[in-house]
Amino acid sequence: TGAVEAVVVDYQCIMPSMVQISGCYHTKFITTANKARFTGAIHFDIQPATALAQAKEIIALAVDGYAERDRSRVNIPGKPVDIMTGFCNESVVKALGGTLEPLIAAIKSGDIRGAVGIVGCNNPKFQHDSMNVALAQELIKKDILVLVTGCCTTAAGKAGLMVPSAIEMAGPGLRKVCGSLGIPPVLHYGSCVDNSRIIHLCALLANALGVDISDLPVGASSPEWYSEKAAAIGMYAVASGIYTHLGHPPHILGSKVVTDLALHGFEDLVGASFVIEPDPVKAAELLDTRIRTKRLALGLSA
Ligand code: SF4
Repeated sequence: TGAVEAVVVDYQCIMPSMVQISGCYHTKFITTANKARFTGAIHFDIQPATALAQAKEIIALAVDGYAERDRSRVNIPGKPVDIMTGFCNESVVKALGGTLEPLIAAIKSGDIRGAVGIVGCNNPKFQHDSMNVALAQELIKKDILVLVTGCCTTAAGKAGLMVPSAIEMAGPGLRKVCGSLGIPPVLHYGSCVDNSRIIHLCALLANALGVDISDLPVGASSPEWYSEKAAAIGMYAVASGIYTHLGHPPHILGSKVVTDLALHGFEDLVGASFVIEPDPVKAAELLDTRIRTKRLALGLSA
């Protein structure tokens, strides 16, 4: 945009070319972790004991940079959007009155037919945001609650899915439940390394119902993953018993054994598998079919 005075990074998914891109403008590129230093960046060795003073130094650098902004090159597309964020299991349980029972009742009644965690990145192989947004839209239409983590949160937020009024885009059951709680049908659960929160929620639900996580009407997806970390997180979900969709395959297709294991073999081992589908509507149907199957197996309506 030409309106960024400083980009301050730690070590998650930072492309080295960010230094050159920042150099196209007056933007200062500042690294903060010794294990992820970049040639050409301004480096701060951030330590907990001195972090506050160092953060103030960084902010002062950014403030000084404002004077260097070239207004003729500033181009801010679109408008700011509101989002409701900060959800975690503790806040959800609190909003439900201190117990998961209302959520379990909503799942049993079919108002919430299931839940899918959408996780991960943007990827230049897809039109920006297209897969992340379309999948979330398709799922909430089917009364499937969506939890997002990581960079796809920005996509969902820009698409207006993370405000309470987004219930208008949801199916009737999800609209009713989220409307009564005043929450969006797409809940932001943190960064992409916070997926343990989602698995923890699954564990709480599984324990409450006396079943395995693999028996729950839930799924996971990383529609536009590009970082190997996101694919590894997908493996974490599968290993935990959660059917996991990826928008494009990991680099495993050279091995038939590994590919077969990922797509089918894990099912016998852990009760879940990967599925690859680049079309968001078809991906939503696959996740919906899985949720339908799991609901019927639990003796619930489809
Ligand atoms: S969502 Fe993807 S790009 Fe974003 S921090 Fe996580 S792995 Fe990196």
